[in-house]
Amino acid sequence: LLRARGVRKHFGNLQVLNGIDLDVYPSEVVVLLGPSGSGKSTFLRCVNHLEELDGGSITVDGELVGYTRRGGRVHELSDRAIAVQRRSIGMVFQQFNLFPHLTVLRNITESPIGVLGEPRARAVEHARELLARVGLADKADAYPRQLSGGQQQRVAIARALAMRPKLMLFDEPTSALDPELVGEVLATMRGLAADGLTMIVVTHEIGFAREAADRVVFMEGGVIVEQGTAREVLETPRNPRTRAFLSRFL
Ligand code: ATP
Ligand code: MG
Repeated sequence: LLRARGVRKHFGNLQVLNGIDLDVYPSEVVVLLGPSGSGKSTFLRCVNHLEELDGGSITVDGELVGYTRRGGRVHELSDRAIAVQRRSIGMVFQQFNLFPHLTVLRNITESPIGVLGEPRARAVEHARELLARVGLADKADAYPRQLSGGQQQRVAIARALAMRPKLMLFDEPTSALDPELVGEVLATMRGLAADGLTMIVVTHEIGFAREAADRVVFMEGGVIVEQGTAREVLETPRNPRTRAFLSRFL
C-alpha cells in the first residue's frame, strides 16, 4: 500500500532523512521506533505531504505522493490535487486538535460533509458508528473540554477515520496523555489493527509494538537501521544501536 524509496529530506544543513526505503502492505501495522530527532515525524509528514521530499519517492496505493505521471512524464500536482490525495491518508498527532466550539459529532462530520460532500444524514450515521468503535457512543453531544485527554484522542481517531482513509499515520498518539489514559487509546488502536486497518505508528509504547505490530522498524539518524517482526526486533535485535535504544525500556 505504501512504497518509499530513497526518501531524503534536509532542513538547512541538517540531513534528517538519509534514504528511507519502506514497504507497507495492506492491513499491516508497522511500528516505527527510534530516538528523538531520528526523523520519525518528518517521515510521516513526508508521507502525508506536509513536507516536500528532496529526493526519492513515496507512493500510496500506487499514486505518487505530490506528483502524477502523464504522457510518460512526471508532473507536480496542483495544491488542489495534493489536498485530494491527502484525504486518503489519516493522521493522528500527539495533540488532538479538536475544534473546541463544535460538539464531538460535529468534529467528526465536519470534513466528510464539507470536503467529501457526504449527505449530512449519512455522515452522522457513520460518525455514530465510529464513536461506538472508539467506545464513545454516549459522547456525541459533548464538547471537547468536557472530555478527558484519552477520550479526546479517541474522538480525533474517529474524526480521521470518518474520511475513510486507506492508510492511518499515528505520531506518538499517547505521549501527551496522563499514564492512566494511555491504555484506552492503545486498546482502541489495537481494535483498528484487528479490523485490518493499515497503520504506521510512531510510539514509545513497546508493549503496543509487541502485541499489535506486524513489523517493527527501528530508525536512527535518518535511516532504517533494522526491521523485522516484533519478536525479531524487540526480543533479539541484531543491531547494537537497536539494542542500546531498547535497553532504555527494560
Ligand atoms: P521525536 O522522537 O523527538 O519526535 P523524531 O524522530 O520525530 O523525534 P523529527 O521531528 O522528524 O524527529 O526531527 C528530526 C530532526 O529534524 C530534528 O533534529 C529536528 O529538530 C529537525 N526538524 C524537524 N522539523 C524541522 C523544521 N521544520 N525545520 C528545521 N528542522 C526541523
Ligand atoms: Mg516526532
